[in-house]
Amino acid sequence: MTASFQAVRGMNDRFPPESFRWARLENVLRDWLDAYGYREVRFPIVEATGLFVRSIGTATDIVEKEMYSFVDGLNGESLTLRPEGTASCVRLALQHHLLYDGPQRFWYQGPMFRHERPQKGRYRQFHQCGIEALGFAGPDADAELILMTANLWRRLGLQDVRLQINSIGSSDARARYRTVLQAYFRQHVDALDEDSSRRLETNPLRILDSKNGDLKELIAAAPQLSEYLDEASHRHFEALLALLQEAGVPYEINPRLVRGLDYYNATVFEWVTDRLGAQGTVCGGGRYDGLVEQLGGKPTPACGFAMGLERLLGLLEQDSDWQAETGAVPDVYVLNQQQTAWALRLSEDLRNAGLRVLYHAGGGSFKAQFRRADASGARYAIILGEEERERQLLSLKPLRGQGEQRQVSLDEALRLIRANG
Ligand code: ATP
Ligand code: MG
Repeated sequence: MTASFQAVRGMNDRFPPESFRWARLENVLRDWLDAYGYREVRFPIVEATGLFVRSIGTATDIVEKEMYSFVDGLNGESLTLRPEGTASCVRLALQHHLLYDGPQRFWYQGPMFRHERPQKGRYRQFHQCGIEALGFAGPDADAELILMTANLWRRLGLQDVRLQINSIGSSDARARYRTVLQAYFRQHVDALDEDSSRRLETNPLRILDSKNGDLKELIAAAPQLSEYLDEASHRHFEALLALLQEAGVPYEINPRLVRGLDYYNATVFEWVTDRLGAQGTVCGGGRYDGLVEQLGGKPTPACGFAMGLERLLGLLEQDSDWQAETGAVPDVYVLNQQQTAWALRLSEDLRNAGLRVLYHAGGGSFKAQFRRADASGARYAIILGEEERERQLLSLKPLRGQGEQRQVSLDEALRLIRANG
């Protein structure tokens, strides 16, 4: 027996009908992004490893253990499959001098790669749609991001996603808080799990983010970052909350929300749901005012977010309308007995007139062809037999609802099909 191949663990194939839901979501996303003036950027799947190490930070989950990094055997360069999009998007903007004309709103979409333990809602290749607002300092930019995501939930008919928000302050404020937090957890070091003990030295703020239920009380009693915020971050946060309140967007301040990447400062937020089990964060984002400069640009305030598309689809699939998504259904199925150039050309004519046409390739009995036509979901069958060819007409038969089969001209067929569109 020959060994058969399987997709790599944690990396998923998509095929109908699931692929139809993906396409539908992508269409909704495009319209939504257009409505806010965001413009698409596309960057490579592979970047220099240093880009991610420098921007995401060495003491983060991603850089410590999740990156697919490899040495390019041809020139010895260390490369990494992109684990997220923000670093690449900023790299792109800097490399092509896109920030000289003032602020920019960019979006991207596509696969990201992280070497995680595969489970529901957590994959090794997953997909994000992200946006980056580069060059915007004010809390109105943060507010617009959040209104924008709320608008998307409305467009998608999602109701049970809640906004959690926090301010993690400036890097100085965080450094002060870090010392306090470290001292606190050191007093309770015996209670920490392995992950948290490691983070105690490298990135104590991440302990707050731990999903280990046994640490819940310890974390709840920890000193809070809000008491160590710098004045500017504090004012920014208050202004943002006021804007959200006036806009009628409910939020929940989560003092333990820190997000796992080093480049964030001030505002961080997540949209979470209880309807997906353990992996309930569908969207995460925040402000990263230092990143552009850190990657070699002029100081440029910025904010953005990324959504996990698998998780969004997991929510949408709970909706019967999304379950029933069929993708594009043909208007017409063309049956033909002789596999003639005429049948092929007629199918082209129908398509050029704007119809979706499935041509029956391979011949066979009309009975068998009709079975395929029914299964295709097409609204009409067009039958091209010996008699039709001699008379240069076609037989049109409605496949759904009532209606007789009739011999008509091409123009008449088009008129009838369109009239019952
Ligand atoms: P988590 O705490 O769940 O690991 P994260 O902080 O690592 O999330 P981000 O880097 O903020 O996640 O990515 C933004 C979004 O991308 C997440 O909210 C989630 O929806 C999605 N996401 C992240 N990692 C994965 C993954 N391995 N599989 C599927 N979706 C993911
Ligand atoms: Mg993660």
